[in-house]
Amino acid sequence: MLEKVLIANRGEIALRILRACKELGIKTVAAHSKIDADLKHVKLADESVCIGPNPSPESYLNVPAIISAMEVTDSVAVHPGYGFLAENADFAEQVEKSGFTFIGPPAEVIRLMGDKVSAIDAMRKAGVPTVPGSNGPLTDDAERTTKIARDIGYPVIIKAAAGGGGRGMRVVHSEASLLNAIHVTKAEAKAAFGDDTVYMEKFLENPRHVEVQVVADGQGNAIHLGDRDCSLQRRHQKVLEEAPAPDIPQEAREEVFKSCVNACIEIGYRGAGTFEFLYEDGHYFFIEMNTRVQVEHPVSEMITGIDIVKLQLTIAGGEPLDIKQKDVIFRGHSIECRINAEDSDTFLPSPGRITGYHAPGGNGVRVDSHVYSGYMVPPNYDSLIGKIITYGRDREAALNRMRNALDELIVEGIKTNTPLQRELVVDGEFRRGGVNIHYLEKKLEL
Ligand code: ADP
Repeated sequence: MLEKVLIANRGEIALRILRACKELGIKTVAAHSKIDADLKHVKLADESVCIGPNPSPESYLNVPAIISAMEVTDSVAVHPGYGFLAENADFAEQVEKSGFTFIGPPAEVIRLMGDKVSAIDAMRKAGVPTVPGSNGPLTDDAERTTKIARDIGYPVIIKAAAGGGGRGMRVVHSEASLLNAIHVTKAEAKAAFGDDTVYMEKFLENPRHVEVQVVADGQGNAIHLGDRDCSLQRRHQKVLEEAPAPDIPQEAREEVFKSCVNACIEIGYRGAGTFEFLYEDGHYFFIEMNTRVQVEHPVSEMITGIDIVKLQLTIAGGEPLDIKQKDVIFRGHSIECRINAEDSDTFLPSPGRITGYHAPGGNGVRVDSHVYSGYMVPPNYDSLIGKIITYGRDREAALNRMRNALDELIVEGIKTNTPLQRELVVDGEFRRGGVNIHYLEKKLEL
């Protein structure tokens, strides 16, 4: 078992990691920026180290500062959480080269999955269903490119191999605009990611976002923890998630689960990970793999009773997976609402001091949040201030509990997106289940 873990993140996920460490008897070090000294997990950790000033490039993205913090505190491992350095292969490599453990997959696997062209290639070889596309980078051969698009059929989407965060993509509706669109996307990709490799995919018009949670030990064992539906998004940011994904034939999902588990073994995956798919007309199309714990991981924990972060820690400590697939029992339904410090109508961030706070509770209600009354939400980082997760024996029960929980939530002093979440959980079409990724933005336009 790992003796002491440095938590190189902030907010709710840092607290989530701290709790898992404590349950396992692992000592904790909270690495934080100057303004984050008041974070809840900093107070609760065995030790804390200020790794730099508020801007994240100087603190949470500051690799030398994080590695020095591990050295001075005698930490043996680092948990990167999500965001920041969580999917940075160079960071993982440097951590390992310095003699510490990176809690996540091997650097080369992060690298393989970080490049979308190589990721899709690896997935296709492992039998994971992918989007029909160019099967590799586009070349300067205009004739060949035009033929690929014709074969796929319009609309197509041009995507940067190094893209991320919803950037570096362009939809093309007809041959007339194809070559110019590729040209522009290449130039943008070069400027944004320093790599102008682009590839082509069929553009799916009304897909859902369905993802599969996996855990592998890097010793030949891998399991899946079912799927999640994260179709309610605004500007590619997830707003509300649920598990299981509603209204998908069991046979189709079992098949995709099996392919994900198989892919984990094939690529030598280790730790927790997520295969993201677009799901349309009964078919799954792999878009990318996230090689880290995700914001929405709790809904999978709620329906399986398995602690994903604890598994990340035991696996990083070298223990084999002690859960077999047949022991993963799926029960009930879970919903997660992200609570952001932002205006519910304009979506503008709303940092500031929380003057009053009351968290919901009761049977089947979980709150993962680092905030408290008197806490100052800094303007420097992501606006997520917490997540409410509910469980119910079925989807309706989980939604009803969420409605009550949102009614109970009080956050004073700053604005939050709670009014939007309250509207969503009673929205008729959403409650029927299976809305696509455009549903929320269309609803917001009305
Ligand atoms: P990123 O790494 O930037 O998040 P993804 O490949 O995950 O990029 O795609 C982000 C989003 O873009 C998807 O959730 C989906 O909304 C849209 N998208 C990506 N590929 C396609 C496609 N082939 N067809 C339709 N929409 C797509």
